[in-house]
Amino acid sequence: MRSRYREVRARNESAWLLPNDGRRTDHRLRQDMRRFADDDELDLVIVGCGAGGSVLLQRLARAGWRVAALDAGPFWDPDADWVSDEAGSHHLYWTEPRVIAGSDPVPLGSNNSGRGVGGSMVHYAGYTPRFHPSDFMTATLDGVGADWPVSYSELRPYYEAIEAELPVAGEHWPWGDPHGYPHRPHPVGGNGEIFLRGARKLGITAKVGPVAIPNGRFGNRPHCIYRGFCLQGCKVNAKASPLITHVPDALAHGAEVRPDAMVTRVAVDEHTGLATGVHYVRDGRERFQKARMVAVAGYSIETPRLLLNSASPRFPDGLCNEFDQVGRYLMVQGAPQTAGRFDAEVRMYKAPPPEVSTEEFYETDPARGAKRGFSVQTVSPLPITWAEHVSAQGHWGHALREYMSDYVHWSCLGALCEFLALPENRVTLAEEKDSHGLPVARFSYSQCDNDRALAKAAQGVMEDILRAAGADEVITIQRYAHLVGGARMAADERHGVVDRNCRSFAVPNLYITDGSVLPTQGSANPALTIMAVAARAADQLASGSAASA
Ligand SMILES: Cc1cc2nc3c(=O)[nH]c(=O)nc-3n(C[C@H](O)[C@H](O)[C@H](O)COP(=O)(O)OP(=O)(O)OC[C@H]3O[C@@H](n4cnc5c(N)ncnc54)[C@H](O)[C@@H]3O)c2cc1C
Ligand code: SF4
Repeated sequence: MRSRYREVRARNESAWLLPNDGRRTDHRLRQDMRRFADDDELDLVIVGCGAGGSVLLQRLARAGWRVAALDAGPFWDPDADWVSDEAGSHHLYWTEPRVIAGSDPVPLGSNNSGRGVGGSMVHYAGYTPRFHPSDFMTATLDGVGADWPVSYSELRPYYEAIEAELPVAGEHWPWGDPHGYPHRPHPVGGNGEIFLRGARKLGITAKVGPVAIPNGRFGNRPHCIYRGFCLQGCKVNAKASPLITHVPDALAHGAEVRPDAMVTRVAVDEHTGLATGVHYVRDGRERFQKARMVAVAGYSIETPRLLLNSASPRFPDGLCNEFDQVGRYLMVQGAPQTAGRFDAEVRMYKAPPPEVSTEEFYETDPARGAKRGFSVQTVSPLPITWAEHVSAQGHWGHALREYMSDYVHWSCLGALCEFLALPENRVTLAEEKDSHGLPVARFSYSQCDNDRALAKAAQGVMEDILRAAGADEVITIQRYAHLVGGARMAADERHGVVDRNCRSFAVPNLYITDGSVLPTQGSANPALTIMAVAARAADQLASGSAASA
């Protein structure tokens, strides 16, 4: 273990750069951070410092690039800014207005994207499974979705690198490409025990993990204290997010992180067709950061929105949108959630929500009557989210109060169903404007029959597991999780926005390195894959091979 830690530390020292004196932030590292002037021509300016942007930043800072990440939100200080309280954590989300449409609209806000350095991983749950090899070739195998221009085996070394840097804890993983994890699995709480018991009775294999929460100390990061506030920004610094896993090392290697900087437009030279930097607003002032290259990593809604808002005479329909690909194939996973009541106390809040999962239903099963599949995981909502679950069932007033006072007796599982990538599920620009006067994103979403069949099958499996474990009542609600796609990678510009190295087809010095580039989503939570794709893109850039691909 020690030599493995030495290896990780040699390429990413973030966990050792955090203070070891009870505080969560090295303020000196931030104060002493290199600061570039707007007219310094950077090697690369990155829009967004979340899952994808931060990995790119850290890798290229290490490679000696002059690089800065501009983020619309704050530079979080867990001690001062985060509270172990559901209602008090609302400021972690991107709550700017957005318009939703389609026959099955996706509620936006707390359910999807983050704002601020660390991105959505600040308040993500912490599950970090890999995609399966099949996810990279669903068109060939199943006749749905798309084949990636990158294979699983090309991404595998980057999965392994990121798993070691977060690091990930879990049992040996028998599904997809079977693999182990750097940390042993965590002990499970009441909810995890119920999942394991029910699954065992039904002959379903379920495993503990994989979660980006070290089992034990990691560098100066303390051990998880199993108090269940992972979705409120882990104040302990146990759960991995780029704020603590990649940003400290980036700063130590000369990168700048510029918080509270909302990028409004990517600038392109009308004659050369090359990106020249980004327009942004900070402290109410419009500014322009000059750069030799630009990477956009603003999340699946904001990335297409920024490209569309960057229209110019050369790109009248939006940047990189010559073939009407920007904003298309946006995906959400169907995420039905089933709760079961037990006579004995479960106290599902007394553990990280991500504990146990199964990928036994991940691949296409002809008997199911639908292509692709789903995974099932523990979810463990805290009381406000539990109230939302119960009220979504139509319970209100006295009945809602009864369910709330019974909270400690409930267990909760969630499924992630691979809803298919469809061209008409897309982001466009709305008439409405935000506080900067920019058109907001309009996200239209409709399910297909395959999606509905998967959600129904997943609901059946979760209800069976909870009943087999002894539940006397089960209730299920339908919801969504995890947006990806909207600027997907493809073999050519008629089918996507970026190539296999995340370089845009239209503008040779413009890259996209966030969840927008994913062509399919599998039934796995996406953050690990987003980081692995960004790490691969960084390698290609640093070695100079991205430009010649
Ligand atoms: C409640 C919840 C639970 C989740 N749980 C999991 C989980 O368990 N496992 C998992 O793998 N995934 C999970 N996710 C999803 C995961 O966090 C995201 O998929 C992932 O972080 C997306 O990475 P990204 O790089 O695309 O964008 P982000 O990480 O969201 O980063 C985008 C950044 O860009 C900034 N930005 C956007 N627009 C601009 C602009 N114009 N100018 C400047 N900055 C801008 C934003 O402030 C943000 O910091 C969860 C998400 C939510 C909401
Ligand atoms: S359960 Fe562990 S990882 Fe989650 S918020 Fe608490 S200390 Fe952090």
